[in-house]
Parts: sequence; C-alpha cells; structure tokens
Amino acid sequence: MTMLDTLRRIVQEVNEAEGLEQALGIIVRRVRQALDIDVCSVYLVIPGMEILTLRATEGLNPESVGRVRLKFTEGLTGLVAERAEPVNLDNAPDHPRYKYFPETGEERYHAFLGVPIIQQRRLLGVIVVQQHERRRFEGEHVAFLVTLAAQLAGAITHAELIGEVGALATPDHEIVQIHGIPGSPGIAIGTGIVAWMRADPDAVPDRAIEDVEEEVQFFIRAIEGVKEDIRALRESMNTVLPAEELALFDAYLLILNGDSLIAGTTTRIRKGNWAAGALRDTIRELGRAFGEMDDPYLRERAADLKDIARRILLRLRSAKREEISWPERTILVGEDITASQLAEVPPNLLAGVISARGTGSSHVAILARAMGIPAVMGVADLPVGRLENREIVVDGYRGIMFLEPGPELRAEFQRLVEEDREMADSLREQALEPAITPDGIQIPVYANGGLLADIRPSLESGADGVGLYRTEVPFMVREQFPGEDEQTAIYRQVLESFHPRPVILRTLDVGGDKPLPYFPIREDNPFLGWRGIRITLDHPEIFLTQLRAMLRASEGFGNLSILFPMISAPGELKEALRFVQRAREELLDDGLDIPQPKTGVMIEVPSAIWLAESLARRVDFLSIGTNDLVQYLLAVDRNNSRVADLYQALHPAVLHALRQIVEGSHRAGKPVSVCGEMASDPAAVILLMGMEIDSLSVSAGAISRIKWVVRHFSRTRAADLLRQALGLDDPAAIRGLLNNALEQAGLGGLVRAGKR
Ligand code: PEP
Ligand code: MG
Repeated sequence: MTMLDTLRRIVQEVNEAEGLEQALGIIVRRVRQALDIDVCSVYLVIPGMEILTLRATEGLNPESVGRVRLKFTEGLTGLVAERAEPVNLDNAPDHPRYKYFPETGEERYHAFLGVPIIQQRRLLGVIVVQQHERRRFEGEHVAFLVTLAAQLAGAITHAELIGEVGALATPDHEIVQIHGIPGSPGIAIGTGIVAWMRADPDAVPDRAIEDVEEEVQFFIRAIEGVKEDIRALRESMNTVLPAEELALFDAYLLILNGDSLIAGTTTRIRKGNWAAGALRDTIRELGRAFGEMDDPYLRERAADLKDIARRILLRLRSAKREEISWPERTILVGEDITASQLAEVPPNLLAGVISARGTGSSHVAILARAMGIPAVMGVADLPVGRLENREIVVDGYRGIMFLEPGPELRAEFQRLVEEDREMADSLREQALEPAITPDGIQIPVYANGGLLADIRPSLESGADGVGLYRTEVPFMVREQFPGEDEQTAIYRQVLESFHPRPVILRTLDVGGDKPLPYFPIREDNPFLGWRGIRITLDHPEIFLTQLRAMLRASEGFGNLSILFPMISAPGELKEALRFVQRAREELLDDGLDIPQPKTGVMIEVPSAIWLAESLARRVDFLSIGTNDLVQYLLAVDRNNSRVADLYQALHPAVLHALRQIVEGSHRAGKPVSVCGEMASDPAAVILLMGMEIDSLSVSAGAISRIKWVVRHFSRTRAADLLRQALGLDDPAAIRGLLNNALEQAGLGGLVRAGKR
C-alpha cells in the first residue's frame, strides 16, 4: 500500500470515529504502525490556554494520559506548539528544552519528531513520534506526519463535536456551543429537523421508528426494486457494452444479494433506526471493509457501494413520500441548506436555520434575512445527522448554536427573544415615515424579496417599493420551469401589492450557488460559469416566457422595472434589451396594453465598473449587487466559510469601485442604487450616502434600521466620513470610524443590537 493510501485510510477512519477518544486512539495506533516506530502520542491544547495535555499514546505509559500537562514554554512538545512548526531531533535529551516526565517512561526514547496540528491558524495540538534508537527521522516521515496533521485538524474537531453531541444524553452534560458565522440576525429556540439531499447517504439523519417489521419490509422492497432497475439497465446495455463492462452490473447484483448489506441493515432497523439511517451505517461499515482490501479491484467496489446506497435511498424516498411532521418551532439543520429546502418548511413553523456550509453572503442566508429567520452558517464539522429532534438555540447575531441549553440558558435566550420583539415593534412605527436626511435629501429604502411570503413583512416594515425581486426563488421551489401564466400571477401579485410604488423584477439569475433541481448544470467553477444573463440569453424560450410574464403582469399598473443580472459587457445588455422589445411587441400585437417598462443593469461583475457610464446611458437606472461585486473584486467565494474573514465590503478597493460606479451613472444622468447586503449594514450606508447613492434596497428586517440611519446623517456629514474612510487602508479601521459616528449620533444601541 502506498503512503498516500495509508494516509487516506487513517483520515477516513478518524472521520468516522464516534468521539474524540476513539479518534485519537486510531491516530496513535495507525501512525505507529504505518511508520514502524516505537511511540506515537497526541497532545491537545486546552481551549483558551497555552497548555497542552497528553490525550492519547501508543508506546508511553498509558496511565500518563490526561496527567501530563505542559505549557507552550515547556518541553520539546511545547516548543513545537510555540513555534508552530515541526521539531526533528536525533537525541531529544540533549536539547536544552527537553523536559522529562517520569510518569511517561519516555527516558528510553531518543529520536523525537513533533508536528503541530493547526486548523485555520489555530493550534489544536501536537502529534509526536519517538524512537528508541538515536536517529534523525527521515524527510519522508516528516512529510507524512505534516500531511497527516494538516488533514487531521478537521477530523479531530468533528470527532470532538460528535462526542459532545452524543454525551448530551447524560444529565450533567456541559452545554455545547458550536461556533459558525452569523447568517441572519435574531435568536430562535426550537427543535432540529435535518434537511438532507435525496441521494446523499452520508447526510441521512437518525430517525426513530415505531413499527420495526414494517420498516424491515419496506427496506426489503426497496432492495428488490433496485435489483429490478439494475437488471433492466443490464438488459438495455447488453448490445452496447462489452462483456467486461457488463460485469459491473453483476457486481452490483452480488452486493445487493449479499447478506452483509441486508442482514447488517435489518439488524440496525431492529434496533429502532429507520431504514435510511440503518442503511447509512451499514454502507459505512462495508465501505471501510472494502477500502481496506489490498486488491485494487475490490477497493474500487467501495465506490459502487455508494452508488448502490444512492439508488436504494431514492427508492426509499419515492416509495414513502417522506412525511415530516414539522415541529411548531422547526430549526432546519443541514450540510448545505438550499433555498428549496427552506421553502419546504411551512413558513409559520420555520424558526431558525443552521447550515454546515455557506456564509452570511450565501443566498440561503439572504433568504433567511428576508424572512426574518435567524440563521447560523458555516458550522464546519457539524455532526448534522445527530441533531434531529434535539433542542437547539440559534444565535444568529453571533453565529453560535447551542444544543439542549438547559433551563437557565433557555430562559436567558427567551428574554433576548422578547427584547428583540419589543425593539422591532418600536422601530416599525417610525419606519413608515419617509427616509429623508437632515439636509433634506430623500433616499428611498426599498425591500429585497423573492417569495410571495415576504411581501407582507416588506409592506408592514415601510418599504418604499421593491428594489430587487429575485425571480429565481419561485423557480427554485418548483419541480419544473413555471409557465407564462403561472409566472404572470406571481409577478402581478408583487406589482399589485406595492402599486403605485416601484417594483424591480430581476430576470432569472440561476447558476452559481442557485441551481434549479430540474435544470442541472455541472461545472468546476460555477461562479465564473454559466450564470444569470448568460443562461437566459442562450435560452430565448425561457427568457421570452419570463419577460412576457413580467410585462403582462404590469398591465394596468405601470410600476414595473426590469433588471438584468451579471452583465459584463454592453453586447449582453443590447441583446437583453432587444428581447424586452420583442416580448412587448408580441404582446401589443396580441392587443394587450402594455406600458413601456423601465430597465436597469446590475453592476456586480468587475468589468462593469469601468463601463458604468456607457451601460447607464442605455437604461433607466443601475443597481449595484455588492454581494457578487465583493466576491469577484476580492476573489473571495461568498459561500466559502474558510475565507469568510476576507470577504470585506468595507475593503478600500470596494469603496473606490463603488464611488466610480456612482459617478459614472450620474455622468449619464441616471440614478443608481445598491441592492446587495451592504445596503443593510448601517456603517456601510453612511459611506454610500456620502457617495450620493440615490436609493437603497435591503432585506425587510433591515428597513427600519436603515431608514433611521438616513434620517440621522446629513449628506455633508456622510461625505466627510467618506473622505476620512478613503484615507484609511484597513477595513477594521474604517468600521471603527463609522461605528464611532453611529455611537455619536445615538445609534450605538442599534448597531450593537445588530452585531450582538
Ligand atoms: C448581489 O450580487 O449583490 C445581488 C443582489 O444579487 P444576488 O445576491 O442574488 O446574487
Ligand atoms: Mg448577484
């Protein structure tokens, strides 16, 4: 077996461990074996302290586990932690930093190699190997350990969380808080329901069942169904594929008939787990067994197993159209929650969202904000499958989730929920007043939307209109492209509800992180791929249907504007405008009285910054999509929690770009708005006002807050702050300047509430 295979296998085993202790046990045992050395130990840092504890060892005295503790300034292991780099010595006792711990019995060992385990700049611990003889560990050993340590960090955190989450069954457990990224502000207390992708065996949650026999039968029927599918597939491929390829289907049937799959799963069902959860565990076990085989052909079968599992899961799902009984306060938990999963939950029952992937700029977070639902994103290493039916607190302000909080903490959060409600009530009253600066300039504050369900909250929160209606949302929650009539009805409801206030409908912006389940696009780099206007221009039938629906919906109202996403060059805009013209002419020919809509361009691709003036000349307005503009300008994926810290809307480059766009638009004599999430951030809004932005479009929950900011800052004061901000080169310093200004204006409480 190659080193790479060994490495993969260790990481996989650690990933599947049932808790930290087991995970560390696997590491020390496997590493000692793989490197053929005398000792392997893992030391972990006590969180918040510069102290390491010996947590697992193969080779040292097992009694010393948990007893040996050392500061970063002590011993050779401390030195590895202090330097955050490997230390490789042929005779450890010779080194001035050598510290002898008699309880370990390590005096016998001379060669020492220690490697730090680091996760996102944070030191988790140190992995140490030792050898009796005096020798320097070879480069290959060092490379192996460094590579392994780099991959172990995530697995260790994951194992720790699984252990903590599992330990909750005991009465005196400590409260578990798991950190993520703030996604949507607010606090929610409720019951976890796991949203899982139809065919991803790893994401299946545990679920208790009542009728064991019925579940076993149900599973057996699913297996039979898959067998039939495979046989049919083999039949249809008979003439197309050579015999050796057809053997693959036989291998599938062999696994499906095999006792390990059926007996393994039914035993697990009999222990009370539902068929899907039982299948997940059996597949994992079999996968491990296959993966460990030395024969490469048999190892390949591990991939087949996954495929078989997917097929069985699909059968299980479609046979028993999953009936979820949603708790009254559902906290939707998932690996990578999608907009359609969010929309599956009845809105009156959805209380909060937790997603292992994504950031505050992900579309799901934006949707949650529009719905006023607290969300925590990017909770890496979250053991999602274990959270079903558990009590969860979502702290969307700080981006933290708490599991089974206990009575005191629950009461404390309940108080915060009440406080929030009172604050929202008091702000709402003032939000109905217009947003005019102290020096008399009106800056309308519009709402962003995408679901019919968010019309009412937007109306009630005093929106001056709709500045961005994301039409892809109704597309995402359906099973096929909605037809012209269906779309017309949706758009008409929005236009009518806000009439005579303006409504900006954006044309379909799918692709990127917004897939349509019925229109799959596979790309390595979707954010730089087939997305937004690029798709609709390539599919005139989809584009024209949508444009006709928008225009028909506006009949008799005249408050429609059409906005094009992802424009990167004038050619695309010209084409898009021609389609609008054509759609309108078709409708006029049909005898309908369709007013000429206003049109606008989203500025969200960097090339459009320098084209702002010429683009603006062709349309009625520009709207800056800062969510994408920031990601493309800074080369930071808006959904990637690993780089979330680098996603900075107050980055000096972003501010310069925004100023340039506003100036370009004004030179063309056209108004310009910001509809990205930056417009919901009070500090950023001051700068936008200073740039002479004409309007803002924000999530419904932010309208009152942003109107308040507009009323408290004159344009002159905002321009002065902008000048100062542009003189700074650090986003944190810029934020400090603006927060200070907000505090002085008496809005500190509001800002703190937003960032609690
Ligand atoms: C944006 O990119 O800022 C924007 C408003 O569009 P979306 O978030 O839907 O991509
Ligand atoms: Mg965008």
